[in-house]
Amino acid sequence: MGLKSSEAVVIGGHNLGEADRIVVFYTRRYGKVRAVAAGARRIRSRFGGSLELCTYGGLVYFERANSDLHRLNEFALREPFHLLRRSLELLTAASEVAELAGVAGVEGEGSEELFALIVGTLRGLNTATDPSHILRAFEIRLLKTLGYLPELGRCVRCREGLPEGVQSFGLNEGGLLCPACRAEAIETMPVSPEALGFLRMALRREMGLSQASLHSGAAEELRSLLQTFLEFKLGRRIRSARFLAGITGFSLDTSSSRSVS
Ligand SMILES: [Zn+2]
Repeated sequence: MGLKSSEAVVIGGHNLGEADRIVVFYTRRYGKVRAVAAGARRIRSRFGGSLELCTYGGLVYFERANSDLHRLNEFALREPFHLLRRSLELLTAASEVAELAGVAGVEGEGSEELFALIVGTLRGLNTATDPSHILRAFEIRLLKTLGYLPELGRCVRCREGLPEGVQSFGLNEGGLLCPACRAEAIETMPVSPEALGFLRMALRREMGLSQASLHSGAAEELRSLLQTFLEFKLGRRIRSARFLAGITGFSLDTSSSRSVS
């Protein structure tokens, strides 16, 4: 109980009553925090525009006992990331980061790694022209943070080495499969050498992602693979990712490139 403070990013919210708003934050110290911003929707609200989605700032809130809904005292803007509002594509990409942060975040339990990943990704998107590489890097690093890092170096099932060329990713197995194990797998997705190279580099943080290049086929393959695997692991649909796929002309049906045997 009492006043708590932490760096935080706004990851969601909805209106409450006539003038208030419930705001969801991902905080560095306490993980996911929900707080009521009293009077946030009044014209001369002391919060101004600071509570927009994906803004980053210093949060002070009053923790209420026996409740997971606290009271917002102050949110001092650090980085508004206002360039994210330049286009629907960028804003939807940022929404995906916020949505996944909400799913991955645990109330009362901060993760330094997850917080740094969220802020770093929003910083990248804020100056990006094409958000797709930054989102793909976010997705693979998020999987790692959640403990679902796929095996990309050898067969996840029998531990044998992998042949050259296009690989098969086993959704249930959570990694690449050799040809023998692939034959017994229920659901697999293809991974080209180009897509695999991107994943390995993104995990080693070797590149400035804004300079990374992928052919459109490999980019779509990666999007489909990472989002299908994330949805499989999280047990739910990523709404903003599907919406983004729709507005950028990718197929909404991620199962189209899956082979089910
Ligand atoms: Zn194998």
